[in-house]
Amino acid sequence: MSDTHYDVIIIGTGAGGGTLAWKLAPSGLRILLLERGGFVPREKANWSSRAVNVEARYHTKETWTTGDGHPLHPHTNYYVGGNTKFYGAALFRMREADFRPLAHHGGISPGWPIGYADLEPYYTQAERLLHVHGERGEDPTDPAAASPYPYAPVSHEPRIQRLHDDLVRAGHKPFHTPLGVMLDEQRPDDSPCIRCETCDGFPCLIHAKADAEVCCVRPALAHPNVTLLTGAYVERLETTPSGRAVSRVHVTRNGAQETFSADLVVVSCGAINSAALLLRSASEQHPTGLANRSDVVGRHYMGHVNSVLMALSREPNPTVFQKSLSLNDFYFGDDDFAYPMGHISFVGKLDAVALSAGAPPFAPGFTLEQMARHSLDFWLTSEDLPDPANRVTLDKSGRIALSYTPNNDEAHRRLIAKLKSLLQHLDLHPHLIPRNLFVGQRIPLAGVAHQNGTIRFGHDPATSALDVHCKAHDVDNLYVVDGSFFCSSAAVNPALTIAANALRVGDHLLDRFGVRASAQAEAASHA
Ligand SMILES: Cc1cc2nc3c(=O)[nH]c(=O)nc-3n(C[C@H](O)[C@H](O)[C@H](O)COP(=O)(O)OP(=O)(O)OC[C@H]3O[C@@H](n4cnc5c(N)ncnc54)[C@H](O)[C@@H]3O)c2cc1C
Ligand code: SF4
Repeated sequence: MSDTHYDVIIIGTGAGGGTLAWKLAPSGLRILLLERGGFVPREKANWSSRAVNVEARYHTKETWTTGDGHPLHPHTNYYVGGNTKFYGAALFRMREADFRPLAHHGGISPGWPIGYADLEPYYTQAERLLHVHGERGEDPTDPAAASPYPYAPVSHEPRIQRLHDDLVRAGHKPFHTPLGVMLDEQRPDDSPCIRCETCDGFPCLIHAKADAEVCCVRPALAHPNVTLLTGAYVERLETTPSGRAVSRVHVTRNGAQETFSADLVVVSCGAINSAALLLRSASEQHPTGLANRSDVVGRHYMGHVNSVLMALSREPNPTVFQKSLSLNDFYFGDDDFAYPMGHISFVGKLDAVALSAGAPPFAPGFTLEQMARHSLDFWLTSEDLPDPANRVTLDKSGRIALSYTPNNDEAHRRLIAKLKSLLQHLDLHPHLIPRNLFVGQRIPLAGVAHQNGTIRFGHDPATSALDVHCKAHDVDNLYVVDGSFFCSSAAVNPALTIAANALRVGDHLLDRFGVRASAQAEAASHA
């Protein structure tokens, strides 16, 4: 066997690829991780609002295009750990009904080929792996779980606690956002996480956020059978003459071309880059893109309908860590709107520097400092539906082109209206500044943080690219484990579902190699 042949090659080290590497590492299989980025440099700029929000220091400098050819500067990050290095670590399970066909105002959200029960054990494992803090049962839409969250919920600071209490008095069911931060509130002197204001959107300088680098890739690399190559951009996958197996992985690393091979190749570049990689790998045997007999590769792009809404209050909001509260009371609808509306939670506390970067716009009569000091900064997510015309393609020069027409807008408008009306009727009403109460902004197309759906899985090779194990229908040794496999986007953040699915696929791969039992014994001996 050559030293460039492995049992498994995993391309991309984010929520999907990083988690899979962690799962497979104890098996002794020879695993190669190929990651186009490097490690996020540990530097003071990690926690600088100017560096992160204004200078976009960690975003890729790549330019994509929109469907009509305009330049698009995507808010995405290429590093070991992928976008989890920058995520807000709000780690939700999808609701049970999200796995079934669901009627929305904008159309039907399709069902998945697996049900919630199939993923439940893996959600439990993923929550342990990612140190999730939360409280089961507070949220009526919470799906059944086999065990409590591994850690107690992150407490609310006084301003958020008051909002919580006001909501409860008004008959609502706010709940603690499940969060993957390594915070120990009982022993603050020993707590890795210091509960700072630069978490959501920032890398954690002290590695206390449960991201895929810290929790998955680094522990995987402790196994001698796992190798990571950084700066390794995968250009193309080549197949055997029959087209039924990937035979070579073509990589550009430090300006040089290299090739690697493996018994199994797992693509996990994020939903947009994975689709682009398969499209770039078109060949005589796969003329419209690798594993694309169904013509779904790149299609059904979803990224959620997201908005930030700042509610300006007369009293200051001195909260440091704001993401502790969520509300799903309108997730599946309300008396006056029978369709799902979505999820309400918070972004990290916005400061004047972040606001100067443009989102959301000014409230007239306020300085940025006043706005930031007095705002409650909500994050609203509604489901977008999988439209085949919303898609990733390659332009003539091979650049990524992203075409997207928003849908299910009415649900999102209703969700925003619900939140405004709810806040106006709360006890905190007298504290609110009565004019320009709210400033908000829809997250633009460049905000691809929640990208998913571009290489969907399913039973039918005519309508899906991947089978139920996330193996390509058309290629016997090719898998995809990032957010591409989603059939619908639900309205909760995607990373926990991506990680849980990677663990599920990991079990299937261990079975395929016939090493599952030994890997479990090995993992248990390290527990
Ligand atoms: C600011 C921000 C906040 C977020 N907050 C949350 C949150 O609170 N909760 C939540 O659930 N989700 C959140 N997300 C989304 C979450 O981070 C993603 O859903 C998740 O990281 C996606 O995992 P993935 O494996 O699909 O892709 P990624 O994590 O993006 O990983 C893909 C990896 O592939 C690499 N790669 C790409 N192309 C190639 C190539 N050709 N060759 C080699 N390597 C390649 C990339 O460098 C990257 O490391 C947030 C995202 C952002 C940006
Ligand atoms: S210290 Fe805690 S709150 Fe601050 S970035 Fe790290 S994980 Fe997030």
